[in-house]
Amino acid sequence: MSKFWSPLVASLEPYVAGEQPAIPDLIKLNTNENPWGPSPRVLDAIRTAATDDLRLYPDPSATRLRQTLATYHGVSPDQVFVGNGSDEVLAFLFAGLLKHDAPLLYPDITYSFYPTYSRLFDINTRIIPLSDDFRIRPEDYAGPCGAIILPNPNAPTGIGLPLADISQLASTHADQVVAIDEAYVDFGGETAIPLVATHENVIVIRTFSKSRSLAGLRIGYAIAQRPLIEALEQMKDSFNSYPLDRLAQVAAIASIEDEAWFSSHRDRLIAIREDLTAKLEARGFEVLPSQANFVFARKPGFEGKTLATALRQRAVIVRHFARPRISDFLRITIGSEAECARLIAALDAIFESAN
Ligand code: PMP
Repeated sequence: MSKFWSPLVASLEPYVAGEQPAIPDLIKLNTNENPWGPSPRVLDAIRTAATDDLRLYPDPSATRLRQTLATYHGVSPDQVFVGNGSDEVLAFLFAGLLKHDAPLLYPDITYSFYPTYSRLFDINTRIIPLSDDFRIRPEDYAGPCGAIILPNPNAPTGIGLPLADISQLASTHADQVVAIDEAYVDFGGETAIPLVATHENVIVIRTFSKSRSLAGLRIGYAIAQRPLIEALEQMKDSFNSYPLDRLAQVAAIASIEDEAWFSSHRDRLIAIREDLTAKLEARGFEVLPSQANFVFARKPGFEGKTLATALRQRAVIVRHFARPRISDFLRITIGSEAECARLIAALDAIFESAN
């Protein structure tokens, strides 16, 4: 802190990103990255685009990518907004569409960037507790508000909300923006994109970081009716008129075009998740039902932090949140078959030495 800081900067509580430690032979199950690299067609597209043309600015409208995404989702290109990771899309959304006199609603246990952005953009919020079994209850979101944002599936619980519930919420709050953050939806959730055609207040936010293995390139997007997308475009053009670099634009297109790679790896990941869930349950863990590429689990009698530290000593890192209600849980990213086997072996060793 120094005298040059604005009061806003001094008051911020920045988001703490998951660690990227340089530990050799590490089993990294802490930041919900995909265990496999992107499709070979994506890597080819990046190599082909890595030419002298990198001296040129990228297409500021990301025209081809927006066209590709529009066709994929059955909307028109002017209903698609792209940005540097869904975190950037969310930043424009919070500042441009979720800030009102009446409070923004979101769950108490949710993606930690929501409180960070709310503070950054000075947004009035009302935090809605999850139920005792860690679910979002749509009925708790009734009543006046300025806007609503929910991840579906929720993070870090992994629990999904049925489309019928989101549809109900969108109809009840027809005059407020209802934003659905679908970072993990490809792993078994129900997308709200079909609601966009009938609900002018619904906006869906997606990322290439999880199911498309492209966290390193930072690609996110939003889909909504035109007036909401226009608001995001105004925000973008006021901050950064180039939404995505050249390599990210071609990589994203190639990823969408390789549906076979995408769906086979998604299915394989879901199968590993179900297998890991069974193995954790067999070891006495309570595992919340996940529709994401992670599980949220606790072992009665063991502190989350102690368990995370013991795993780390065995070169397996998982995420632990020192927050009320969830401090006994671990959020474990679904790794490859071999990585999950290493996790289970590490847990068995920990429990054996505790006996
Ligand atoms: N939304 C949720 C719910 C997330 O968990 C994440 C990943 N941390 C994001 C959005 C952001 O993803 P990205 O910026 O990599 O697209």
